[in-house]
Amino acid sequence: MSKVGDALAGFGVTFKTMFKKPITEQYPEEPGPVAPRYHGRHQLNRYADGLEKCIGCELCAWACPADAIFVEGADNTEGQRFSPGERYGRVYQINYLRCIGCGLCIEACPTRALTMTNDYEMADDNRADLIYGKDKLLAPLTPEMTAPPHEMAPGSTDEDYYRGNITATGLARQRESAQ
Ligand code: SF4
Ligand code: SF4
Repeated sequence: MSKVGDALAGFGVTFKTMFKKPITEQYPEEPGPVAPRYHGRHQLNRYADGLEKCIGCELCAWACPADAIFVEGADNTEGQRFSPGERYGRVYQINYLRCIGCGLCIEACPTRALTMTNDYEMADDNRADLIYGKDKLLAPLTPEMTAPPHEMAPGSTDEDYYRGNITATGLARQRESAQ
């Protein structure tokens, strides 16, 4: 194409753009929507009675290709129960300077303790604050929940929790009898 042709093609783009509706994001006053399955900040979920779903197994940490997760499990005791079963995640950290949002960690989690939210506002001005601990990752307590540590629902086992038989008021349905 000649130089004149090039110029006309260029001005043509400018001319067409003049009549398009401008797209202006009003961020941060009006954060834009994201896709429903967008991989944002992680969340450590709870059961309906408030106990934590994380059992401190570290499978998420082993699955992470960026080595962004650090987990230290500990034993539940009679007076200090944070999750059903033997173990809970005493220390849980995700380093968002490393995380690439791939979601492999949530696929690896056996109890669906770990999921990802749509929250993408995680910028900060220092490295330390981008390592999120349980204080930032644990799902908030709803009014029906009781903050751990506390006992499991009366008459329940850890399997009742894993099978979704627990409500905020206790054991919802009896276990199926063994075949
Ligand atoms: S989303 Fe991917 S990179 Fe981020 S913590 Fe999970 S496994 Fe690691
Ligand atoms: S979040 Fe899931 S995979 Fe990770 S330690 Fe807790 S239970 Fe295990």
